This record gives sequence, C-alpha cells and structure tokens, in this order.
Amino acid sequence: MKNLYIYIHIPFCKSKCIYCDFVTFPFKEEWVTRYRLLLEREIELKKDMLKDRVVKTIYFGGGTPSLFPPSDIRSILEKLNKTTKIETKEITIEANPSFPDEERLADFARMGINRLSIGLQSTDDAILKFLGRDHDYATFLRFYDMARKHFENINVDLLFGIPGQTLDMWKGTLKEVISLAPQHLSLYSLTVENDTILKRMIEQGKVRPLQEDIVAEMYEYAIDYLETRGYVHYEISNWALAGYQCIHNISYWKNLDYLGFGVSASSHIDGRRFTNTSNIKDYSDAIIGGELPIVDERPYDWKEELTDTVFMGMRMMEGLSLTEIKKRFGIDPYFYYSDQIKKVVDEGLVEIDLDRVRLTKKGMLLGNVVFREFL
Ligand code: SF4
Repeated sequence: MKNLYIYIHIPFCKSKCIYCDFVTFPFKEEWVTRYRLLLEREIELKKDMLKDRVVKTIYFGGGTPSLFPPSDIRSILEKLNKTTKIETKEITIEANPSFPDEERLADFARMGINRLSIGLQSTDDAILKFLGRDHDYATFLRFYDMARKHFENINVDLLFGIPGQTLDMWKGTLKEVISLAPQHLSLYSLTVENDTILKRMIEQGKVRPLQEDIVAEMYEYAIDYLETRGYVHYEISNWALAGYQCIHNISYWKNLDYLGFGVSASSHIDGRRFTNTSNIKDYSDAIIGGELPIVDERPYDWKEELTDTVFMGMRMMEGLSLTEIKKRFGIDPYFYYSDQIKKVVDEGLVEIDLDRVRLTKKGMLLGNVVFREFL
C-alpha cells in the first residue's frame, strides 16, 4: 500500500493579519458544525482515493484550526479512521496563541494530535500590533506554558524582514524563543503578497519595505545563531532539534502523494494534481450536491513532476539525491539538467558531490534564482 499525507484546511480566523493572503474567512460559531460536516462528507467523496493507502501524517492547517472545538476535530479524525488506514507518527494542528485554553490543548493531545504549530511571528509587541496579530508576547508565553504541559513537539513560526524591525529586534526575538526550547522553528521572510492590506499600505506610501540587504543579514544571522543552539537547518526556512523534522512538510518537498480536504486545499495523487475551490459557498454547494469541489485538475506529466521534484527537493539542505531521481524517473538528472547545474555551480549557488546536489549558503539566500533555472 502506498503512503499518503493528508492536509485539512480550516479557513477561519478571528481577524485578518495585514500580510496574509491565505484563504480565510471571519470565524463564526455557526460555521463550525456545518464546515465539519462538509469535511466529513468530502472524506466520503474521496474514499476511492483513500483506498489502499496508508496515511503517514495528518496536518490541520489554516486559518486557525485551533479555533475549532476539540470534539469537531476528533470527529474528523474518527471519520478518517473509519475510511482509511492510518499509521501516522505525526498529527499536527496549527494554533494561534491569542486565546490560551489549557483544557482545549489537553483535549487535542488526548485525541492523538502530537505536534502543535504556533504562529508567534515576533516577540516584539509593536511589531505584532503592526502585523495585525491579535495577541501580544505575554499572551503567547501563557499559551506556550500551557501547551508545553501537553505537547512534546512544538513548532514556532517567526517572521523577519518586517517593516520597522531592526536586526537587534530580530536577534532578541530569536534569543527569547530559543530560551523556550521549541523542537522546531519555521522562519519566513515577510513577502508582500497581492491583495493584502500590507501591499495597499506600501502602495499608499504608508509603509516602507525593509532593504533587501538587511533582510539577508537577518537570515544569515539566524542560520549561524541556530546552529550554535543545536538546531539542524534542514530546509531553507525550517530548523529542528534532531529527530523533530516535520514529516508532513518533507512529503511536500519530496513531492510525494498528498490529499487535501477543505476550501482551497490542493492534492497530488496518482499522477494528478487538483485544487478545491476557494469559494466557501461553491465548496459547500458542491459537497452537498455529492460532487467533488475541485476547480483545477491537471494531469501531471512526468516532465512536470520531475521539474517539481527537483525544484522542491533543492529546498532541503540534504540536497537532491541523483540516485533517487534516477530510480523514480529513469533519467539521470546530472545529464538531463547538465547546463542548468553547471551554471548554478559556476555561480557558487549550488555544490555537488557524488550523489547530491545541494544549495550553498549563497544559494540559500538566492534560492529563487536557483529554482528559476530548473523551472
Ligand atoms: S492567523 Fe494566520 S491564517 Fe489567520 S489571518 Fe493571520 S496569518 Fe492569516
């Protein structure tokens, strides 16, 4: 039986952060049961895709999945359990620290969720306010203390390159967070996405983006600092203590089969790729009508799959195994991509040994330049 990785999108948030372009809707109590029932119906509709599969990870992302009552999350897990074979070592739920509730955290842990991913972004209250986060650092600390009693494996998300953030502020954030000893850290540089409040603020001249060289300095500082604190840099934006790399996200970077549920969730399974509608009404109408809520379905030809596998695999610090690619696609990427590889090696962006092609430190900073070569 083939492995499968499951993503469940819970698209509700209490407020909208200024940089966020994820598909989210304002949280309303009356949506909880309805959305949970829709998800369960979608699981039934996708039962053929779940057949003869072993589910290795489940990831509740959002939005803010932790807003959902534990009983609803449990019900979704039970539905999956009845529909497919689950042999997972990792079930993650994303949480917003704005409402510390220990009983809720304990319930999530009791139902088998064993990885908590908390969106902190910064330890600086002025920065949190600027970002539109609905919590301050003290509230996060209360939440973290409660979470620690129930979760051994915690990820903390941080942002750098935020307008108004200095290198010293970033150093302070890292130091504070490391003192809490989370098992995993995801550090993303703030990107200004279309259709965000931040984008409009910049266009109106209300906010000036940080200079690129300062952002690069922040990233380089994190790489060096986290290494001295025992964190393994295993993907461009992700660090973990030994043994705590996120199995679910690795499935994306290795371009393995995953199945998404919920509004806007994407899937890659059996040589096909498809995405659910981002429109919650269309999603609901399709499911109630017994139809899959898919809006974009494409066959995945081997060339496209190869490109994606190379492009995503290069994000990982262990690099791309030429042997694995050869086994999976029957071609030797060293020769297939010889021009591209030569170019990025000559530019000092990538290094190559007998079996691995991996990013150099310069390549990590200029990842997009490298990836463009292979796209
Ligand atoms: S909490 Fe996360 S998903 Fe919700 S608006 Fe903020 S960034 Fe977006």
